[in-house]
Amino acid sequence: MDKLGYSRETQKLIYAIMNDISNYFTGQDAGKKAYSLDLEETKKQLKQRFLEVYDMQPLKSPITFFSKYLEKNKDRTIGEIEKELKETFIKSLQSTLIENKTFSLALNTLTQNQANDLVKWLLETCIYYDVPLKMDIENLADQYDKAYHYVCLKNKFCCICGKSDGVLHHYDNVARIGGYKFDDGRVLRVMCLCGEHHNEVHAIGTKDFTNKYHVVGIHLDDRQIRELKKIHKGHFQAFKEE
Ligand SMILES: [Zn+2]
Ligand SMILES: [Zn+2]
Repeated sequence: MDKLGYSRETQKLIYAIMNDISNYFTGQDAGKKAYSLDLEETKKQLKQRFLEVYDMQPLKSPITFFSKYLEKNKDRTIGEIEKELKETFIKSLQSTLIENKTFSLALNTLTQNQANDLVKWLLETCIYYDVPLKMDIENLADQYDKAYHYVCLKNKFCCICGKSDGVLHHYDNVARIGGYKFDDGRVLRVMCLCGEHHNEVHAIGTKDFTNKYHVVGIHLDDRQIRELKKIHKGHFQAFKEE
């Protein structure tokens, strides 16, 4: 597992998005301070839904794990094992929360990657439900754009014209990895295109298509590959979970 701890900026972003999702449900304008009770409920539900699709890799039996750790180190002083003890405690605590379908957003309880994956998923949720966000869009533009592409893929909307029944198109050449059989979804960029735009990209080529529409597709993470595998049948045959 990566190092625990993520940035305050990412935490602010997570809270800002959750705040506006809560505002959306209560009919308040984006950017307003959400009502605290509604915000708590929204956070609880978002965390629960995120855990349904995302593997936080919790410890199997956190309390036992922690007891065993103490037992093994009972002859050492707290000063000697301070850092390790803290991490073991945080991991056990977070795992116990996850068992109860929630998790902590405290800065030292998530890795930066986990926090970024949560942001990504939150943005996808906002785009899908059309939740207005009030924040520094410039900082967010790139992530927002990627989330948009993913929502298109997941719902088979063409990323150019929005038409339904889109197909998954590989932006990077599949020959690069030796053909579809070897595609695990982790290497090549993908996008969703309707019949018309799919024909066009194959007719005029990637370079001209990119110049015309300014789209380059997105790289997928494991959660997204798992979800898209069910929707775009036959793709990502080489995908194996670790
Ligand atoms: Zn189209
Ligand atoms: Zn294609």
